[in-house]
Amino acid sequence: MLVIGSHVSFNKEQLLGSIKEALSYNANTFMFYTGAPQNTLRNKIDSNLTSQAIKLMQENGFDINNVICHAPYIVNPATSDVSKQEFAVNFLINELKRCEELKVKKIVLHPGSAVNISRSEGLSNISDRLNEILNEDINVTILLETMAGKGNEMGITTQELKEIIDKVKVKSRIGVCLDTCHLNDAGYDMSKFDEYLDEFDNLIGIDKIGCIHINDSKNNIASHKDRHEVIGVGTIGFDNIVNIIYNKRLDGIPKILETPYIGEDENDKNRIYPPYKFEIEMIKNKVFNKNILNDIRSYYK
Ligand code: FE
Ligand code: FE
Ligand code: ZN
Repeated sequence: MLVIGSHVSFNKEQLLGSIKEALSYNANTFMFYTGAPQNTLRNKIDSNLTSQAIKLMQENGFDINNVICHAPYIVNPATSDVSKQEFAVNFLINELKRCEELKVKKIVLHPGSAVNISRSEGLSNISDRLNEILNEDINVTILLETMAGKGNEMGITTQELKEIIDKVKVKSRIGVCLDTCHLNDAGYDMSKFDEYLDEFDNLIGIDKIGCIHINDSKNNIASHKDRHEVIGVGTIGFDNIVNIIYNKRLDGIPKILETPYIGEDENDKNRIYPPYKFEIEMIKNKVFNKNILNDIRSYYK
């Protein structure tokens, strides 16, 4: 079964607003941040809005097990700075509790950056922090995201993710989130996705893949840039992305679009139109819409 959605907002109506937005894209799942991706200010979860959201999901056939939370970018589990380590652990323990209140079972986490330390030190810091955070009594799984290798980002190869996961004690609460733009930018050839999956299965196990971010890339393979592009408009291309989405080995795993909003024209920095409704339509049809950018603009205008 195709489980597809996109990044949606989580604002005043919290999860209820998120599900409404997902419905407007004809999605059957979604991903949200519990506040701004760039900061760690968080509001209390409103249980009344949560139960309304759960009801609306049930009415529309959404499975809460496929809904994904994403931790903010600025927590860095790889750091050797003790106060930043404490901050990351405390924030993420509370974030897991917020997920539990929202009935959400999976949260994506960037492994972090190794600043002024070796990569192996960074990797073992990440495992140590995860061992302080993860708890069998909390039914929320952390999914480490594959990264593009911008700056000192960790988790850019399957081997690095394996090294982190090997040292995690509560194995039932750790997994991986693939990101097609990040994999391309890290140097994996998305036209040979089954080879990537073979290696992943040998080192970690495909059963550990809990989510897949579906993005095209503005840059060439191995560029280490991390700039997402609308599906079919970038360097990975529509056919490769459709093959990944419909790969039988990934059936039922939530696929989440994180492609950029677009402006009135290419040079318009005021990006206000979400591409998701039109991308989901193309993905369901398995046919690239050459007019997608114009179709998005005229629909939302
Ligand atoms: Fe991410
Ligand atoms: Fe991503
Ligand atoms: Zn990215």
